[in-house]
Amino acid sequence: QLSNRLRVVASYLPDHARFADIGSDHAYLPCYVCLQNHTATAIAGEVNDGPFQSAKSEVRKQGLQDRIEVRKGNGLDVIDEGEVSQITIAGMGASLIAMILNEGLSKLNHVSRLILQPNVNATLLRKWFIEHDYELTDEQIIEEEGHYYEILVADKGMPRKPYTEDNFEKELYFGPFLMEESSKVFREKWSSEAENIERILSEMKKASQPNHDKIEDFTRKLNWMEEVLHNE
Ligand code: SAM
Repeated sequence: QLSNRLRVVASYLPDHARFADIGSDHAYLPCYVCLQNHTATAIAGEVNDGPFQSAKSEVRKQGLQDRIEVRKGNGLDVIDEGEVSQITIAGMGASLIAMILNEGLSKLNHVSRLILQPNVNATLLRKWFIEHDYELTDEQIIEEEGHYYEILVADKGMPRKPYTEDNFEKELYFGPFLMEESSKVFREKWSSEAENIERILSEMKKASQPNHDKIEDFTRKLNWMEEVLHNE
């Protein structure tokens, strides 16, 4: 049974997907996609031997060797330019995901869609999209086993700009689509985050030499959170 988190990632792949799943671990995502969709093909990339072996055995077990190639290597090194049209990277921190993308920029020339699920700091990837001519086209937030996950979808060269001038920084932080939708899960995530920040702030203010810059930054974020939470 594939996690809900990876199902949402999979739901953004088109019918004739030709994609690479980087950091694929057991290759559950490419196997699920190729079992559901008989025209899809995938490359499962893994840098570590344990997960690489698990991915190979899962692909064999599902009889998908003809449509999923498991390759060992760092990030986008495992793909050739033009070989895939979509890339999925899930279950890592945003800075690792951004590093993988930055190290493989030349491989992205023909990649029309990126579907990313950072465990933390989605803001960093929203900025990355803007700096690299990918347009954020959709976002989802889900809760699974006590964790909140954000899934970001970006397409190359789409004219639609999801950001507004007045709220740009806030939208980068919360996600323009997620903020607009303001779902129950979104509100739960940010009210729990607001509680954390309140706790951290009260500790910081008690310190013998308070870090005023940090306090100011956290206070600003907390105000934003209160705004989005009270904005029905
Ligand atoms: N994508 C799967 C998911 O979302 O459930 C697995 C996530 S797992 C936490 C992260 C995987 O990424 C690990 O299997 C790790 O070996 C792999 N990984 C980490 N850095 C990588 C890199 N630079 N290139 C390829 N794989 C990497």
